[in-house]
Amino acid sequence: MWNFSYVIPTLLVLVIFMGYYFGLPRIPIRINHTFIMLVVVEFLVLTTDIVATWACINYATLPVGLLYLLNDAYFIAFFLRAYSFFYFTVNVLKSSFSYNQKRRVLVLVPFCVFSLVVITSVWTHLFFYIDETGYHSGVLYNTLYLLIAFYSACSFYLITRHKSRVRRKRELNSVVWYNLILVLGAIVRYVFPTYLLMDTFCLMSLIIIYLSYENPDFYLEPRTWIFNSRALREYVEEINNKKNYTVLMFVIHNYNDLRDLYGIRQMDQGICLIGDYLRKHFKDEMVFYYGNGRFALLGKEDFDYETSYKNIRERFDSSWKADDAELFLEVGGAVLKMSENKLAIENVMSILSEGFDLAGESDEDRVIIVDKEIQDRIIGQTEIKKSLNNAIEHDQLKVYLQPIVNSATGKLEGAEALSRIFEDSGKMISPALFVPIAEKNGMINQVGDQVFEQVCRFVKENNVKAMGLSWINVNLSPIQFMRSDIAEKFYSCAKKYGVDPDFIHLEITEEALIDDSLLVKQMQALSSKGFHFVLDDYGKGYSNITRLRNCPFINVKLDMSLVWDYCKKPDEILPNMVNTFGKMGFSITAEGIENQQMAELMADMGVTHLQGYHFSKPVSMKDFVNDYAKE
Ligand code: C2E
Ligand code: MG
Ligand code: MG
Repeated sequence: MWNFSYVIPTLLVLVIFMGYYFGLPRIPIRINHTFIMLVVVEFLVLTTDIVATWACINYATLPVGLLYLLNDAYFIAFFLRAYSFFYFTVNVLKSSFSYNQKRRVLVLVPFCVFSLVVITSVWTHLFFYIDETGYHSGVLYNTLYLLIAFYSACSFYLITRHKSRVRRKRELNSVVWYNLILVLGAIVRYVFPTYLLMDTFCLMSLIIIYLSYENPDFYLEPRTWIFNSRALREYVEEINNKKNYTVLMFVIHNYNDLRDLYGIRQMDQGICLIGDYLRKHFKDEMVFYYGNGRFALLGKEDFDYETSYKNIRERFDSSWKADDAELFLEVGGAVLKMSENKLAIENVMSILSEGFDLAGESDEDRVIIVDKEIQDRIIGQTEIKKSLNNAIEHDQLKVYLQPIVNSATGKLEGAEALSRIFEDSGKMISPALFVPIAEKNGMINQVGDQVFEQVCRFVKENNVKAMGLSWINVNLSPIQFMRSDIAEKFYSCAKKYGVDPDFIHLEITEEALIDDSLLVKQMQALSSKGFHFVLDDYGKGYSNITRLRNCPFINVKLDMSLVWDYCKKPDEILPNMVNTFGKMGFSITAEGIENQQMAELMADMGVTHLQGYHFSKPVSMKDFVNDYAKE
């Protein structure tokens, strides 16, 4: 009466799958341990199901005790499977269940009760019994569906509660899917009990789990089969704040240049060789490849990183022999010791990423220690990044205005737009801190766009001419210059608000490391639309006077360090410089004017415009209107 047509192929597929899966490297994280448990339990269910069913068919020839034993084993494995799937869901959703001993015990109670009912069935006959006509279900048999319903309900409860914890949408879909398939399997089992079909449904769920969470490709570098950056992140996430650990990072110098020099294939072979060397020599540590020539060895608290690094460097003194090339590589290293840290995983990952950068820049024999001071600096930057993202996303970037006065009349003539972001606590983050970060991660484009738009809106909504304003300066980062559509973008924004481009002066810093020909090209594009240019921070960098001649600037801003130095100890250099600029046709602005005496010194020298705290600090647009609207 029982049909084996599904259960035997299911077992075969599972065995092949197990052979494949267990042959691959895995990171020792909880979700992987749980998956192994699940696979083993599924194997037990399948084998006991087949054997117990076969025994029940041949009941007449077998001892009754053996029949009870085999059926007990099957039912307990069956209950354990329901629990294991639930426990896997707990791990996917990072629910506190997995850490909370009390809750874990609590959800195990139904499993234990049902197992007890099964074991005692030999006397009570409640769940099943065997008599002279063979195997029979007991009065409580169908309650096994209650157990499945209980664990499924718990799983779906957790899914609805913690769905935001799943990082990828695909993973959320999967957790819903495999739980639905389990429910479906239980229904099919109830309707067609003799077909032994539920195991096949469970195998389907296992395959979904494998494809969504366990696929080793997710955690392995494809060409080298070393754990990748995702594996490092997930492993660190799991041990962070629970264990003390040490990470030794080392980075191949000039990796990208060497890739061009030696060829991609040869370099990949080199990475494989290094991976093999590390695996062979550092058996107690985990080896990760973070991409771009960056390796990490993660060990226990007492990992002797100094000797290890020394050995690694010594190995790198000799070449790595790829198929048809000999690679000469050099490395720099950094170490991070994590003990009793209470850092969020995001911060730890930022520290690691910066650690790799530091390692890449170092060519010292000794390893760089990523100490508390460096960690605090990185965390500070991560916080700034977060505030910046937040401000951009919620349109909360503020633009302040600082007046620029005519040195002859002392009257307001222009203003500089300076961006500001505020933390939730109200604390201001200086652009000196967030602009370099925004330039690094590309967000400066959004910052620039928002500042530009707010300035245009300000001009449209206020009678700027009546305030005395003839122009407003907007700072432009060299990164923004890289965008080929910058002229078009600014022009259409100005047009949208009915602002004459003539009114906007774009400040670019003298430090800009951008290629001169590109600079000239982009400036010409913007000039042709009517925008003007100011050279910012003159004297801070390498004072490139040729650039001044080649580019269409109308104003030069003397950096405040130059102004302050002169005011402290006047000399001939600055007046001559100002004189030259004047003759070249530039107007000149002195930044950082903090008192009347400085203002007079600059005015006497021929500086045409003055900006500084002596006149006003940068103020919000609202305060600016309040201060100057009546004038
Ligand atoms: P910057 O363009 O040279 O701006 C002048 C800086 O000097 C401003 O600092 C201003 O507050 C400060 N300052 C003005 N007068 C005085 C003074 O009398 N004494 C002192 N001690 N400081 C004075 P802030 O606002 O912190 O901006 C720093 C830099 O950040 C700016 O230097 C500019 O390079 C950059 N920045 C600000 N906003 C933006 C922006 O929207 N886009 C870009 N790309 N850069 C920006
Ligand atoms: Mg400026
Ligand atoms: Mg400046």
